[in-house]
Amino acid sequence: MNQQEQLINKIAQDKIDFKLGLAVLLDDDEYNFKKVFTTLRNYIINAIPNKVDYNSEAYQTAINTIPLKPTYTPIVLLKTFSTKIAFDKLALLPESEHKKTITALLWIFKITDTERRNTECKSGCGHFWHK
Ligand SMILES: [Zn+2]
Repeated sequence: MNQQEQLINKIAQDKIDFKLGLAVLLDDDEYNFKKVFTTLRNYIINAIPNKVDYNSEAYQTAINTIPLKPTYTPIVLLKTFSTKIAFDKLALLPESEHKKTITALLWIFKITDTERRNTECKSGCGHFWHK
């Protein structure tokens, strides 16, 4: 697990404040939208227990509580389309939407991973980063 992945998991586990962690992630010299986007997308897909349409109560809670204006394009896309289709559309957004997209995905991962830690992972799991 690289430094960015460690940071993302620390934010998800409330070991680092969301806003502070997000700023560190975006300001990093190594920051690359495509890389961080792909990491977050995979993390979210793995954290959602429903592998049919990648929807869940926690996912819905997450997209409805993203700390950004609900009129921002990434939020509208997430609320309009199913998970995987929305993510495909997010990947194609122009650079002006990149920070908002990463903010939204980091938030979604935090909520869905917290739900997973409180349910599936509660009585022990093989995820070494959950230790
Ligand atoms: Zn776990």
